[in-house]
Amino acid sequence: MTPTPAQASAARPIRRIVIAGGGTAGWMVAAGLSKSLGQQYDIRLVESEEIGTVGVGEATIPTLHFLHEILDLDEKEFMQATQATFKLGISFENWRNVGEHYFHSFGKTGKGHWTAPFQHFWLEGRKRGLASDYGDYCLELRAAKDDRFATLPDNGINYAYHLDATLYGAYLRRYSEALGVQRIEGKIAQVHTDAASGYITALTLDRGERLEADFFIDCTGMRSLLLGEALGVGYENWSHWLPCDSAVAVQTASVRDPIPYTRSIAHPWGWQWRIGLQHRVGNGLVYSSRHIGHDEARAALLANVEGEVLRPPRLIRFTPGQRDVVWKHNCVAIGLSSGFLEPLESTSIHLIQKGLTRLIQIFPSDGICQSDIDEYNNQTRVAIENIRDFIILHYHVTNRTDVQFWRDCREMDVPPQLKHRIRQFRDSARVMLSADELFAENSWIQVMMGQGIMPTGHHPITRQMDDRDLADFLGDVRKDVARALIKLPKHGDFVRRFCGTSPEPEMRPAQPQTAAAPSALKLNADIQIVKLADGQPVFVIDDFIQDPDVLVSLAQTHANQFQVPPGHPYPGPQLLLPQDLAAELDAFFQRHLGPRLKAGAPLGTYARFSRVMQESRTLDPRQRICHRDDSGLEPGQRVAASVHYLFHDERLGGTVFFRPLMPDAETRAFMHDANTLDGAAFAGKYGIAPGYMTQSNRYFEVIGRVPAKWNRAIFYDGSIFHSGDIDWAQPAGYLQGLGRLTLNAFFKSRQPGP
Ligand code: FAD
Repeated sequence: MTPTPAQASAARPIRRIVIAGGGTAGWMVAAGLSKSLGQQYDIRLVESEEIGTVGVGEATIPTLHFLHEILDLDEKEFMQATQATFKLGISFENWRNVGEHYFHSFGKTGKGHWTAPFQHFWLEGRKRGLASDYGDYCLELRAAKDDRFATLPDNGINYAYHLDATLYGAYLRRYSEALGVQRIEGKIAQVHTDAASGYITALTLDRGERLEADFFIDCTGMRSLLLGEALGVGYENWSHWLPCDSAVAVQTASVRDPIPYTRSIAHPWGWQWRIGLQHRVGNGLVYSSRHIGHDEARAALLANVEGEVLRPPRLIRFTPGQRDVVWKHNCVAIGLSSGFLEPLESTSIHLIQKGLTRLIQIFPSDGICQSDIDEYNNQTRVAIENIRDFIILHYHVTNRTDVQFWRDCREMDVPPQLKHRIRQFRDSARVMLSADELFAENSWIQVMMGQGIMPTGHHPITRQMDDRDLADFLGDVRKDVARALIKLPKHGDFVRRFCGTSPEPEMRPAQPQTAAAPSALKLNADIQIVKLADGQPVFVIDDFIQDPDVLVSLAQTHANQFQVPPGHPYPGPQLLLPQDLAAELDAFFQRHLGPRLKAGAPLGTYARFSRVMQESRTLDPRQRICHRDDSGLEPGQRVAASVHYLFHDERLGGTVFFRPLMPDAETRAFMHDANTLDGAAFAGKYGIAPGYMTQSNRYFEVIGRVPAKWNRAIFYDGSIFHSGDIDWAQPAGYLQGLGRLTLNAFFKSRQPGP
């Protein structure tokens, strides 16, 4: 039997490949194909500088690592070339209600059991008052919120990138050309097909050049010149589910360090993205042109950006949807030519990568077979429909009724499989995924709860745990997260260091911080007052930070960096607190304690871990007596101090306060002697032998004592004489482990005005 023309074309072996279009899709495909199959094929890419690329597409998801592994890219080099930053998720602001926000992070929240994942245990804990925020159990989410990031061994943190789309294209172009891909500049004027088989045979450029090939990859963007226009493949329009059909994008100068997440801010007719790169910020507004005009949208975007606008805003119109098939005859469409789901969950670059890797896996060997085409189309459709439903979820499940746009979204009829998923989660907290879904259970849970669905039921296995077991289980997960979190540097510092432009972030005294910053420590402001015998207050806060173990763990991690500063009177080694944590402590002090301790305008804060480790018999005169923290101040300045006890054994001692029994001049002379006489001379003159001062003597009287307690902090005026309440009779407790670990901070300020 003679083969039909289509069969004859299909049977032809493939030798020559033409990629039409050189946007992100074209160059990703060129890079992937040339790396994996390049030796066997002649690969050419045609693009038109005059037409240009869509020029957006800067947020990615973690699957991009897989492509970079295939391409064997060096992460640092890639980040430098594309001015990339790290991304841990998306902050959805005003989506559920105006003024509320939630995170969709790339992390895994908590740990589950084979019967029931973590959310069931969390829901039971929440019911019994034992659980804190769902996000407290996810490192990526906490890190994003606190603006922290570091790459961790063993994939300890799941992340993606923000990148400059144009630079990414250029980077992949260099990569592909080095592997032999030939780039041809020119406009495709005509697509030739074989009349009998329908196969594409060649492209003609506007200057007459003819590019023949056996296989064509359509990366021509939304026009879909080959698959859509030449092969007539239809387009399924999903705008009844995805209301936005336009975007306006603008680049602005950075005004702050980039944060490790994308901001998605809902508006009355769509939403706005903000993506911080190393060298600039990408901004855009995605909106429904049925609810706002293009000029108004442009003005709204410009009114909501920070920093200088670097280029005029660009308008992009689109139709959400998908080609009926993405592979027909000898042409596969990848990228915008295959369809477009709006960028809410940054999925387009992932879909390009998926289209590419799927093509490599199903690449025709000795000719094109319809079964491969069908498989490719099928897999593509299932993948994109799952993602589509996930995006619809964000619009549909909302409490917003303030404007028509959101009312329309709430009321729309959504695809049946999404309806089922929402109902099942609401009823039983279950999310049952089918194989190969891009967004895992944790993504669905974060968005469903974030958008306002709180399940009414959860798995009964959770009731097998009594309160103590459940509290311990949840507490352990939360502490693990907090411990890992506190070791992460600020994202901006890490990016600078990683890309080789900045030294290691160092520990140094805090500068005063005025703006409200996200809390890493979660400080408790439940303040008690202890009055000293002379009427002065000491402010005491029990359970000072939510997870004190994280500070202990930080000190433990850096235990070998504790040092005794030369000449410093503190009887043991010290370690400076990281700058951002000191700033948080400072902000807390300014807000809650500053006025009570009569602090004026802040002049700086200094915070350090300290451990009492010095043998009592070796103490020099300064260390044998009580002291004040206000030495070295200039006129018009004052200081307040705090001690945060980070040890469990209360016998290691709190703080004891004194008042001098001598007139001022004698007290000054006494202190001068303590600072200048050697130990023997001081003992001879004052009768004070080496030892920690914890009791009244001839010179000072005890006026109060605050016992140590795990996670207790005290704040007091630095002009009050005080001393550690150290009982060296039991030295072992001080010398084992971290011993008497405290966090000591000093808050310098001007005297308050009259
Ligand atoms: P294009 O960039 O349009 O490239 C088309 C190429 O075809 C160009 O090189 C062009 O010159 C060439 N071409 C066209 N016609 C001809 C011709 N006649 N002759 C020769 N060459 C021709 N994706 C994400 O993953 N994350 C995001 O955050 C994200 N944000 C987005 C925001 C918006 C508003 C939009 C619209 C898209 C966003 N995307 C995002 C999608 C992303 O931009 C695209 O998936 C990606 O840029 C790939 O585009 P492309 O290469 O398919 O098309």
